[in-house]
Amino acid sequence: MAVKTWRKPNPHKPNFGHGEYAVPATRFFDQLSFIGNNIVGCFVLETSEGFILIDCMEPYDAHRDLIVKGIADLGLELKDLKAILITHGHGDHYGTADWFRDQTGCKIYMSEVDYKFAQQDKRNRTGVLKWEVYDFLDDGDIFELGDTKVYAFKTPGHSPGCLSFIFRVSDEGREHWVEMWGGSGLPYSMSDKAVYMESCIKFPKITERFGCDVEISSHPFIDKSLERLEIVRDIFDGVANPFVIGREACARFEDMFTQMCIAGLKRQGEEADKLLPPQPERLPARK
Ligand SMILES: [Zn+2]
Repeated sequence: MAVKTWRKPNPHKPNFGHGEYAVPATRFFDQLSFIGNNIVGCFVLETSEGFILIDCMEPYDAHRDLIVKGIADLGLELKDLKAILITHGHGDHYGTADWFRDQTGCKIYMSEVDYKFAQQDKRNRTGVLKWEVYDFLDDGDIFELGDTKVYAFKTPGHSPGCLSFIFRVSDEGREHWVEMWGGSGLPYSMSDKAVYMESCIKFPKITERFGCDVEISSHPFIDKSLERLEIVRDIFDGVANPFVIGREACARFEDMFTQMCIAGLKRQGEEADKLLPPQPERLPARK
């Protein structure tokens, strides 16, 4: 007999009822920190030659100020910002890139497809992009700064040129591999959902190869990151890092998107079944 789950269904949406509130800038690995609010944020990845921002929130002054303050709170200097890597061409991920480039001369990287997409997207909050992308990242490209490598993979669906990233961090002398699924929300059209599904099948094979045991998202409400960051802010030596969830849990997190996509396709009717590639099995129940 199937055991009824004791877990709440994943709402997969922020609690907008409580409004937007800033989260204290939080370092949660030796090289990795979160800056942002409860809805969207960015990651600071420190290297031997300055630091990188991964995503950079909405084009609002308040978001820009939050990032500037976060960088200072982490003990870093704005002049050491060397690059901004952008997961995808929605305004809540590249919004402040322009301003930071003007201030620091940092380089901006994203996929060429989404660079063009962002310039046409009706939801683009900044109108026509002012900034120049210095380099485009393609599938399998490696971004390198100092001692750090960020592996980029194309995982389209949420947007046509969405990138997901993989990189190494450490905590208490142990190394971990972080996976960042670039775009979480399900696209509207059936054809985009079919593309999303292909990425859902592709990415786990890559994360498995790297042995990713940490997952992060620019939207901290989708994976209980707000609560986990709160734990980290009060953690002490020897206590397990709540962001190190292991291979199996990372696979379950990836599977959540696959199942969401299958459900979304099914909701759009029988025709959608034809768009489904050979269906991945749902992961077996935990023993
Ligand atoms: Zn998006």
